[in-house]
Amino acid sequence: MSDCIFCKIVKGEIPSSKVFEDDKVLGFKDIYPQHPLHYLFIPKKHYTSLVDMPHEEADVMAHIFRAMKSVAEKEGFSEKGFRNVINTGTWGGQTVFHLHVHLMAGHEMSPKF
Ligand code: 5GP
Ligand code: ZN
Repeated sequence: MSDCIFCKIVKGEIPSSKVFEDDKVLGFKDIYPQHPLHYLFIPKKHYTSLVDMPHEEADVMAHIFRAMKSVAEKEGFSEKGFRNVINTGTWGGQTVFHLHVHLMAGHEMSPKF
């Protein structure tokens, strides 16, 4: 998707602070962090949202969750904990239409959303 900001981040056309990268997945710092640690993990392939992902391609989500777990362990916040959020579609609060998983940590969060 040529006009997608996250595809531009994947291609290196927009700078980002990367926390994880392999052939399928990129993790980078959210530009407007809502928590002391706030990262975004995306499939490098463009999907508009979770509902745009074919069932047979959903393995990349397991890959993303493995990547997030390894970053949490490496950065030392897996014990204290963290929160993941996927906003899907307009009612779900999605503002960037390239599927992404938020990884937020660094302080205690309310059990309520
Ligand atoms: P959404 O509301 O779609 O779930 O979250 C989109 C997230 O992307 C927001 O938290 C926003 O701060 C972040 N974001 C938007 N534009 C950029 C950008 O150009 N670079 C980075 N690193 N994050 C961005
Ligand atoms: Zn994209």
